[in-house]
Amino acid sequence: RTAVALFTSDLRLYDNPVLRAAAGGADRVVPLFVLDEGVGRAGFAVPRRAAFLAGCLADLDEGLRARGGRLVVREGEVVEEVCRVAGQSGADEVHVAAGVSAYAQRREERLRAALGRERRRLTVHEAVTTVVPPGGPVPTGRDHFAVFTPYFRRWSAWPVRHVLAAPRRVEVPDEVAGAPLPVADAAYAVPKGGEGEGRRRLTAWLRGGLARYAELRDDLAADATSRLSPYLHFGCLSPVEVVTRVRGAGGPGAEAFVRQLAWRDFHHQVLAAVPGAAVRDYRAREVRWRCDADEAGAWREGRTGFPVIDAAMRQLAGEGWMHNRARLLTASFLTKTLLHDWREGARHFLGLLVDGDVADNQLNWQWAAGTGTDTRPGRVLNPLVQARRFDPDGAYVRRWVPELADVPGRLVHEPWRLGGAERARLRYPEPVVDLAAAAARFRAARGRGQ
Ligand code: FAD
Repeated sequence: RTAVALFTSDLRLYDNPVLRAAAGGADRVVPLFVLDEGVGRAGFAVPRRAAFLAGCLADLDEGLRARGGRLVVREGEVVEEVCRVAGQSGADEVHVAAGVSAYAQRREERLRAALGRERRRLTVHEAVTTVVPPGGPVPTGRDHFAVFTPYFRRWSAWPVRHVLAAPRRVEVPDEVAGAPLPVADAAYAVPKGGEGEGRRRLTAWLRGGLARYAELRDDLAADATSRLSPYLHFGCLSPVEVVTRVRGAGGPGAEAFVRQLAWRDFHHQVLAAVPGAAVRDYRAREVRWRCDADEAGAWREGRTGFPVIDAAMRQLAGEGWMHNRARLLTASFLTKTLLHDWREGARHFLGLLVDGDVADNQLNWQWAAGTGTDTRPGRVLNPLVQARRFDPDGAYVRRWVPELADVPGRLVHEPWRLGGAERARLRYPEPVVDLAAAAARFRAARGRGQ
């Protein structure tokens, strides 16, 4: 018997129910990844994520070769390619993970119909993209939790299943040819993608970073978070395996880290229940957003005149990653201080983030904008107060805004207090907005909207 194992958001050999079932039940397996033109058309295959994906596929191929097989990569329309590969290999069954996003659910329906016409079976397995499946814990009478704290309580008590081992051998039929593996565009410096690198980083993190996570996670300059987000997004790591190993390590760092993984699951269960929240307000606030191309440009390019905001936006442009605290600050600044539509910011982030993920990005944006699940949507993060608290020595600002590298002490966070001649020498922009006036404008906009 021959089976096709279709990889989607699960680019790994460990804890992969799809590969495990295909390899366990058939003599020959075609491990298939389709570079789906639908994903490209939707604008999601941005260069940085494409570069990371190339690393993931190379690593998957290597892992399969070590088990006697190889990865088959095809380019085109996913349903057509799966049917073509199934026909060429004489497969009678195709295995895939359950579709969680609206796009993946449509793909699953179309696959079922197309394979059914050819009398081939589609077996859909649990999608291990979160620790706890969306729709698992739900409040009485509702299909998802809208508030994190009660969700977290139920989530923490939810039974986590055992991690599956990687298959020992994968026999791939010779008659199926694949396209060459995609090559990462060297113009985009991204971390090395793939399960091997993800597992190596996870082990190093458990040994070296986790213990101090609770204490340092909000310190912008310390850069003391795991940076595992792209590996979780592409499914190079199973979130179930991550949580199991982190819980095993124990301590306050582990507790704080597990809570962040629960935040990830929380956003995924909201989006699974309310797919429209990717583009529409989850909770209508009827704020009339402002539109100012110069301000939006200053925000995107990191020249708002607020050093911590500019440092963060330059980190995003430079690395394709931004610290969580900085994401919160820059999102609050765009949506509450400048009063720009959260979709504008979310789009910009998705264009650059290596870990760009519709559920995590859009729902965190909505949280920051006060249109999402934040139970205190009226609070505004003051960039100056936040900078003093989370970058007390100004090291983060100095790292990303070299114009300010020589500004002494905490003045680095408020260069507008320097004398005129000194400011002119720095060539750093004046603030695009007056914070007190902006806070009053936000309060007035909310008052009108509610
Ligand atoms: P760690 O601090 O080491 O956390 C461990 C893991 O927990 C992360 O890898 C991530 O998977 C998860 N996590 C942590 N915080 C959050 C959170 N607030 N929401 C959801 N999951 C979380 N995360 C993404 O993965 N993709 C995105 O597109 C994304 N966009 C965001 C946009 C905004 C406006 C905000 C405020 C946050 C966004 N986040 C996003 C969440 C968070 O900022 C990143 O997951 C985190 O910074 C990644 O770095 P890390 O792996 O070192 O995190």
